[in-house]
Amino acid sequence: MTSVQSCAEVWLPPDLWSALIGVAQMSYPLEACALLSGFWQGRKLIMTGVHPCRNISPEPECAFEIDPADHCALLRQMRQSGDSIVACAHSHPNQRPLPSQRDKVAAVGSDLVWLIITAKSVTAWVPPPTPADPAVISAPRFRPLLLRREALKDQQRTVMHHETALDQSLKNSQPSQR
Ligand SMILES: [Zn+2]
Repeated sequence: MTSVQSCAEVWLPPDLWSALIGVAQMSYPLEACALLSGFWQGRKLIMTGVHPCRNISPEPECAFEIDPADHCALLRQMRQSGDSIVACAHSHPNQRPLPSQRDKVAAVGSDLVWLIITAKSVTAWVPPPTPADPAVISAPRFRPLLLRREALKDQQRTVMHHETALDQSLKNSQPSQR
């Protein structure tokens, strides 16, 4: 398993991109949140599923907190499918798609790639690493990631070992060569 800190780029298939924009629009003007499943291919992170979660923040107009019950349910589901949770996403209903100060503090040491959704776009970020001395967090920083709105169909076929809805649709449109 590749570490999130070494991530070079994220591949988000167009249907998942649209799903994230849809999740953000449904929650507007409150922040939406979701977890994403996927797998690593070297330093590339390939997304395979969007799983909307409840935002239980007491200030959902400007913050998000993923419902731990949704997170646990998804972990159980992943254990059965062999997939893993690789990214979290939340929307910025009226702000730019850049990490807020609150996001920077919340994300320190996170082992997930962070996606930020607006009405029209999605951006991807590597969270600030855990500092050697936890007392010294002066200005945590996200690292911007290249986000490709594409599906890696050929390579996806070779690593396909579980059945997500996306895998199913790829399989149906392109018979496996294995
Ligand atoms: Zn934010």
